[in-house]
Amino acid sequence: MEEIYCFAGNPLDRVSERRRDTGWIASLLDEPATRVIPFRDLKPLIRNGSQMALDWQPVGPWREVINAGATLAFLGIAEARAHFALDATGAAQAPDPATENIDLRTLAPLIPETEAAILAEARSVVDWHARHRFCTQCGTPSEVASGGWARHCPRCKAHHFPRVDPVVIMLAVKGEHALLGRGRRRPGARFSCLAGYMEPGETLEDAVRREVREESGIRCGRVRYLASQPWPFPSTLMMGFLAEALSEEITVDPEELVEARWFSRQEIRDMVARAANGDPDPATTVPSLPGPVAIAHQICRRWANGFDDI
Ligand SMILES: [Zn+2]
Repeated sequence: MEEIYCFAGNPLDRVSERRRDTGWIASLLDEPATRVIPFRDLKPLIRNGSQMALDWQPVGPWREVINAGATLAFLGIAEARAHFALDATGAAQAPDPATENIDLRTLAPLIPETEAAILAEARSVVDWHARHRFCTQCGTPSEVASGGWARHCPRCKAHHFPRVDPVVIMLAVKGEHALLGRGRRRPGARFSCLAGYMEPGETLEDAVRREVREESGIRCGRVRYLASQPWPFPSTLMMGFLAEALSEEITVDPEELVEARWFSRQEIRDMVARAANGDPDPATTVPSLPGPVAIAHQICRRWANGFDDI
């Protein structure tokens, strides 16, 4: 069964086949039902209250900002209502005391899963436009096209598309033990799955075997895909695997990890349970795992609960 993790399960129909229809996109902006979610410095506008929620707004108050050239991206349609993301960074909009801009990492566990998934789409696209203002082929300022899903160069006519950076993340398993690593930037005794960016010319399986070997010295054989997760910081696709470990002796790459260690299935089951009950004290020396928002947590949970069909 397909598993849905944080930032996945986006309810919007992206209607990608109509994005290049500029007349249709413009007509959506004239519909009273259409909503925009404004971002400032990559942080979405949030309505405070007993339950935090995205502050979807009508187009009207933002028309001037849009006409002045703020980046706008068509996210999709749900319940006959079009949704857009707007990069309102620097826009002189009067702050409403009942709203604030909050970073998506902080926000994700606090808002409904469907809204986190929409924000993953929105944040990645807004961020891409902010960092790709110029044609990578000739250096000319490029222009937003296809409802925010491309940039066109007016000089050399090149088309540029939002990029996704694929990352493999895996649990190497040997019988009743699995391999976790502790990274340099992780606080306390926070362990996680090994992970790394794919390289050109690799299959997913090659990348899994290479990353495990590189970071821990462990050789892997069979590789089994589990699930994926968009990770919008800025635009990563996490692809989760189990890998069959063929060796046991660990040699850590000190550039990547402080340590790597084999844990028993019961130890990982306990770590999953502790992490699911809230973030452990960062000062604790008891090995811990990331919370349920992270796919690493979900991979560990599935294996600890008995999934080991590699
Ligand atoms: Zn160009």
